[in-house]
Amino acid sequence: MRPWRNQFPVFSWLRFQSQVLAYHDDWQHAEEERQKEFNTAKNAVLPLSVKPRTIVLMIGESITRDNMSLYGYSRQTTPRLDARATKDPQFKFINDAWSLDASTVASFRTMFDFKVPGDTKEPTGNVFAYFRAAGYQITWISNQDDKAIKSEWIAHSDKQIILNRLAGRSSRSMDDVTLEPLKNALADPATHKLIVVHMIGAHPHFSLRYPEGLQPTWSDDDEVSRQMKANDRSIVVQHAREQYDLAVLYQDTVLADSLELTEASSKHVPAFWLYLSDHGVETGNYENRTGHSQTTPNGYRIPFLMWADPTLSTQWVWSDLQHRSFRSDGLRHILFTAAGIELKSQAMPSLLSKDYQWQDPPSKTRFLSKP
Ligand SMILES: [Zn+2]
Repeated sequence: MRPWRNQFPVFSWLRFQSQVLAYHDDWQHAEEERQKEFNTAKNAVLPLSVKPRTIVLMIGESITRDNMSLYGYSRQTTPRLDARATKDPQFKFINDAWSLDASTVASFRTMFDFKVPGDTKEPTGNVFAYFRAAGYQITWISNQDDKAIKSEWIAHSDKQIILNRLAGRSSRSMDDVTLEPLKNALADPATHKLIVVHMIGAHPHFSLRYPEGLQPTWSDDDEVSRQMKANDRSIVVQHAREQYDLAVLYQDTVLADSLELTEASSKHVPAFWLYLSDHGVETGNYENRTGHSQTTPNGYRIPFLMWADPTLSTQWVWSDLQHRSFRSDGLRHILFTAAGIELKSQAMPSLLSKDYQWQDPPSKTRFLSKP
């Protein structure tokens, strides 16, 4: 029984009104933040001087590269990406890629917010504000409902396509719903486009992240399941691992399809496609549990994949990329290089530059003793 006061019209309407006022306050505040970030960006970027191009940024959720066959996992969970890797020199993946945080919003902050000269407390650098200030049109396609992501990052985009309006772990919305909007966004006549696709990936609950009836490519008595049993993993964890791997297998099809769409559009306007996950998860590998993990390295070991039209990649260090390392706070440098966005101040060399410098992030060094 809920307290009767909450149901009684006089009280419930008063409470509703105070919530409305609080929301208005939030919106007002968010609008001021957004304006401040845009002004910072306006002062920092030079006018665009590159020919038309399209940047596609695919953001995954809760995918650890440890469970992708592309990265050496014994179960064939990424057959289409594996095939692409063997035959397409324009497709690259970074072996040593790390998120700096193990949860969504904190990780988004490391990827998309940064301090600029003059910032003392809060960072006012925002990747999307920079893209807009430079003259890019931003389309944000989201299959992941999150209030903070909406107000801090989606708000900077010109077009917002929100496909999943149910927050939380129990919503079921297959990531292939993003493909049709992606196709439309790629066909948009704007000359310089950034298209962000935020997928729900393998966000818990894992069982809701692939279509019912999806068949595994592995047997139920393979090396992985034998290892899980040998490590005394509970039945619940063993079951969750099966579901997780199926979620990765499904993600493979969405990623491969999105890359094919991007490649097709690149015949008209050169494109750059990038996929990374916001963070990884524990899948019964190090501990007898599954889910977000700050205590094990697979909570931070993320996939990082790129594809570029040859007319773009010839300007960068493309053939050597596989031997380089990536950390998620370096994402903006790559995006700016790929987009041809130039800053008035000296920019940090990106992963795509010959002068790239690497330093292990804390999320990696704290696990260096673990294999
Ligand atoms: Zn996440």
